[in-house]
Amino acid sequence: MSLPKLANYAGGKFVEPISAAYLDNVDPSTGAVYSYVPDSDDRDAERAVAAAEKAFVTWSQTPTAERSRILLKLADLIDANLERLARAECIDNGKPVKLARTLDIPRAAANFRFFATAIVHFHSESHVTDGVGLNYTLRQPRGVCGMISPWNLPLYLFSWKVAPAIACGNTVVAKPSELTPMTAYMLCELCTQAGLPPGVLNVVHGLGAKAGSAIVAHPNVRTLSFTGGTVTGREIARIAGPLFKKVGLELGGKNPNLIFADADLDEAIRESLRSSFTNQGQICLCGSRVFVERPVYDRFVSRFVEAATKLRVGDPLDEFTEQGALVSRSHVEKVRSYVDLAKQEGGRILCGGAVPAGLPERCRGGYFFEPTVITELPVDCRVNREEIFGPVVTITPFDDERQVIDYANGTDYGLSAAVWTSNVGRAHRVAEALQVGTVWVNCWLVRDLRVPFGGVKNSGVGREGGVEALRFFTEPKNVCVRIPK
Ligand code: NAD
Repeated sequence: MSLPKLANYAGGKFVEPISAAYLDNVDPSTGAVYSYVPDSDDRDAERAVAAAEKAFVTWSQTPTAERSRILLKLADLIDANLERLARAECIDNGKPVKLARTLDIPRAAANFRFFATAIVHFHSESHVTDGVGLNYTLRQPRGVCGMISPWNLPLYLFSWKVAPAIACGNTVVAKPSELTPMTAYMLCELCTQAGLPPGVLNVVHGLGAKAGSAIVAHPNVRTLSFTGGTVTGREIARIAGPLFKKVGLELGGKNPNLIFADADLDEAIRESLRSSFTNQGQICLCGSRVFVERPVYDRFVSRFVEAATKLRVGDPLDEFTEQGALVSRSHVEKVRSYVDLAKQEGGRILCGGAVPAGLPERCRGGYFFEPTVITELPVDCRVNREEIFGPVVTITPFDDERQVIDYANGTDYGLSAAVWTSNVGRAHRVAEALQVGTVWVNCWLVRDLRVPFGGVKNSGVGREGGVEALRFFTEPKNVCVRIPK
């Protein structure tokens, strides 16, 4: 039986890559190739940009209410195809189908719904200066926007960029990760059904260094939104900087969980487990460094390890699976290399650190790794500073508030943090002192889509979400009028 071939989407049509070359698309839970993804190059990017430029002429002039209506329809279609999309995301990515069904796909629908309604309420500024002048600011769509997204939350993050850009009247050329192209491909079909005009969204599949960099370097793509690793973000900034493109970069993280002795320990353990291991630890916001105040350290560690070893690792298609496969063989190797490094750096592996035993027959060739907990590492060692992006968490004791703030801030990253305490004053003090874009207090991943989302330091520049995204994808133009006497 021949395997399905995905296609690029340009000008509202599904098209073969111009080279007719394809890459293998692997199911991480089995290690087997299950479809092929276009290995696009600069010619495909060129074709997509041309379609997007053509569509911009009309789409940018389309009334806001009409753009909103189409995006709402698209959100409804995602809901209507929830099961199909969740299964596809599970097979493409290795994540538990239950997670795709409850997190990834509903969030993709929510992204379109959020920006479809936000755009109707978006307003620009106006100022009257002492009766002398009236200044108002137009916010105009910027043109063709290039978007590059990662594999960990494929449709969720793809739609998080595409939705605000097209809501504002821009057109888009997007490249999903070559490791997880399936749901972006399926979304194109839903765009056609929703009545999105041809060329408003164009998708170019393929490798980052080939298809991705062609989008980044294209002179007519003046706006770039990237989510992915810090090293890739640096490369994109290097190319886009001298071309004076507007660039948003959402990059890696090494997020701390700060657990104070006065915290509700049951909840802190339950939620830290979730923040450490959801999606096999492959969420940029996962808390991979847990700091626990000394009086409760031993209790926390033993209960946390016990809970981690009970997480059900298995076939992602199984409804009861809590930990699926990692995204690729090379990613498992990377994660394993950090566990080896932890041993060299003096760490003690309390659980995990290996491929799980007892996987079902179907998954024997898959890319699985046990939830892993490491203690006794120096705070400033590489394992505690570098992003692993897998099911590996370190736990370190601390003595006081000042010390744990220093520990938490002691990496080059600054995406998010979680603080667990029942002392309200401390929660606010610590939140203010942490060098991150988002602080959760006594929770994790509870975020309103209206807040400006993003990181500081090596976790990125710019903010996505809410009104920030609408500002990012529009160009302000001031009209300054003298008020006649
Ligand atoms: P990655 O940087 O390897 O790839 C991301 C995307 O960039 C992919 O589509 C890839 O094909 C493309 N790409 C690679 N090289 C490129 C180049 N030279 N030019 C243009 N495009 C290129 O990241 P990944 O492994 O897919 O994702 C994991 C990383 O993403 C982690 O570091 C994680 O923290 C980060 N991430 C950040 C956020 C956030 O919001 N800050 C969200 C999710 C993931």
